[in-house]
Amino acid sequence: MSRHVIVTGASRGIGAAVAQHFIGLGDTVVALSRSGDAPQGCAATYAVDVADSAAVAIAIKDSIDRFGAVDVAVANAGITRDGLAMRMSDDQWREVLATNLDGAFYTARTVLASMVRARHGSIIFMGSVSPFLGVPGQANYAAAKAGLVGLARSLAKEVASRGITVNVVAPGFIDTDMTQALGDSADQMTATIPMGRVGTPSEIADAVGFLASNHARYITGTVLAVDGGLAMGL
Ligand code: NDP
Repeated sequence: MSRHVIVTGASRGIGAAVAQHFIGLGDTVVALSRSGDAPQGCAATYAVDVADSAAVAIAIKDSIDRFGAVDVAVANAGITRDGLAMRMSDDQWREVLATNLDGAFYTARTVLASMVRARHGSIIFMGSVSPFLGVPGQANYAAAKAGLVGLARSLAKEVASRGITVNVVAPGFIDTDMTQALGDSADQMTATIPMGRVGTPSEIADAVGFLASNHARYITGTVLAVDGGLAMGL
């Protein structure tokens, strides 16, 4: 049966791969991003800044009106604005928290009402290994991604009895626009990955697909690292 799947940040990178994964399974995939771009095959796209609480609610409620209760929500939209903490501006801090953490909360809060009524659903947050490793220059990003773990585990306990799972996928170093921006330091980071290579967006999509599947109905509140061993034991 076709599921109603919401993916934020689906215009490119990991989010696009996640959207394509579910489209490939025949699901009804709805994409949110600032640009409104989305992979071919999405049932609908919304140009929405996930840091805008009202805009997220309007888009997702419209999607529920059109496609019914949300079965799967993947809160993936994220940005980096790196800099050493001593020199980090308020704006750099807030923008990263607003997109990565607030946006995930607004997305989850809006889909939960329909999931609770349906007594079924999966929410997956796109975390990162950054908070487990500690990354100089990413105090804002690591704090936001650490926040997702607390958010996921608290939500997981709030809704476990309703048949809803809430989990975090924590990618390591994945080949997307976000990591292309790292330039030469990418080679140094790759050298620290036990598997000796960066990951692909579709490898993250496979993990998301698993957590959203019936094979993972007894998994909730977990952090699944998909990182070639980078943060082993997190
Ligand atoms: P990209 O930069 O390639 O893509 C980011 C996506 O997020 C785009 O679709 C972008 O769409 C969307 N986006 C950004 N800000 C907003 C916003 N305010 N509102 C709505 N959409 C937004 O990043 P990745 O694919 O690499 O990253 C995806 C997720 O995976 C992020 O949460 C990231 O933190 C996480 N991650 C990535 C890793 C990596 O190595 N690449 C490692 C660990 C975690 P648009 O520009 O169209 O708005």
